[in-house]
Amino acid sequence: MEKPTLWFVTGSQHLYGPDTLRQVASNSTSIATALGEATAIPMGVIFKPIITDPDGVRALVLEANADRDCVGVILWMHTFSPAKMWIGGLKHLVKPVLHLHTQFNESLPWGTIDMDFMNLNQAAHGDREAGHLHSRIGLHRKVVVGHWRHSSVQAQIGDWARVALGWADLQCAKIARFGDNMRFVSVTDGDKVSAEAQFGFSVNGFGVGDLVSTINEVSDSEVTDLVARYSDEYEVAAELQNGGAKHDSLRYAARQEIGLRSFLTDGGFTGFTTTFEDLHGLDQLPGLACQRLMADGFGFGAEGDWKTAALLRAFKTMERGLDPGTSFMEDYTYDFTEGEEKVLGAHMLEICPSISSGRPKLEIHPLGIGGKADPVRMVFDGKTGSATNTTLVDIGSRFRLIVNEVEAVPIPPMPNLPVARALWRVKPNFQDGVAAWIYAGGAHHTVYSYNVTSEMVQDFAEIADVECVVIDDYTNIRDLRNELRWNRGAFGLRG
Ligand code: MN
Repeated sequence: MEKPTLWFVTGSQHLYGPDTLRQVASNSTSIATALGEATAIPMGVIFKPIITDPDGVRALVLEANADRDCVGVILWMHTFSPAKMWIGGLKHLVKPVLHLHTQFNESLPWGTIDMDFMNLNQAAHGDREAGHLHSRIGLHRKVVVGHWRHSSVQAQIGDWARVALGWADLQCAKIARFGDNMRFVSVTDGDKVSAEAQFGFSVNGFGVGDLVSTINEVSDSEVTDLVARYSDEYEVAAELQNGGAKHDSLRYAARQEIGLRSFLTDGGFTGFTTTFEDLHGLDQLPGLACQRLMADGFGFGAEGDWKTAALLRAFKTMERGLDPGTSFMEDYTYDFTEGEEKVLGAHMLEICPSISSGRPKLEIHPLGIGGKADPVRMVFDGKTGSATNTTLVDIGSRFRLIVNEVEAVPIPPMPNLPVARALWRVKPNFQDGVAAWIYAGGAHHTVYSYNVTSEMVQDFAEIADVECVVIDDYTNIRDLRNELRWNRGAFGLRG
């Protein structure tokens, strides 16, 4: 995409005559301009000519589908727009849809209101006519209600626009998979063909030898330059510094990063997976490289986890322009102190420094798995605040997204823990939140984000047309178990 944009499409009809339609166009232009300038909406909003007949809808849909920069369409019925004229076009629209239910004026002009005003400003029933048709033809869409100048409305549109951008990026995303799945693991595996059909991203495997040869081609001077940048950006443990006993390990980590980055960039990949069971020809499991590539927006999944790699890439795209805070994550171990239950999240190495509360430190420690040399990694504590954990699982007949709202809390000192970490409380409470996750079949790997909200995950699921299970303050186990049971009927019989 050169310049991602939303299209602002207004419905009306010829019945009102040219003067009214000119007024409708003028009002819609003002709204599109204001939304395009709103700081909460991270992309341009283009006004499209008023739709008054079925041919207009068809032409618009063909144009939107073919426009690479159009990431989504906002629909609004300023006046009444008989909805049967929208059927032929809308059923072919492949871009995400937001139905904005608004009105040009904020307050009613009580002293002057007459039937001309009523007929010009009738979204209250024009949009109901549209919504009925959208429901009837099964149009996947987001409905946002409220005055277009209100910050809460613009924020909802902005969050949805971010999701639509993530979706657009995913449609041509390529995930490189070095090696296969961690042997015998279930949840990281799945149907890559169905995933491509449903979500758009493709996953293809490469022998780790292909990566090794790229890494070996990296020049010593490139390595020296990158190691110097590490010293600028991070604290570096004494043994890794120039002259230190393990400096060569840091140089090798830099070589891995440069090689991996060029392999991905040259191949047009925006995400990748590794596995510690397939490291032939590599001196150490890539840790620092994965961390830094995530920080630059690449999707990543460990142990061959291509679903999490793709989801992470989508979330990285959604948070573009914000203070970043999204990482690959694993629910690692629990603090079961009664009444204070928490999850300590981490991974063997690969947590993104975008979630760090301070300046990360480069360290080197043994890794008792994989049978390779000690790997270099960034160590830091995760930020506090509201966050989400999201997983994408393949449950055989379909995909399911599961999102849990969590609250990240301060982390006590852990001088002997040599990895980056985050610590959080689970909503609605530890017992129910974790039980809900397990009932839903959620993975131990997640995408952990301070920017992508549970509403955004639901919007993403709506666009992708997949099941979404939300675990938040409203979750109770009886309803959740019924939801899962009923969703088998709602989502199960598709083909
Ligand atoms: Mn793992």
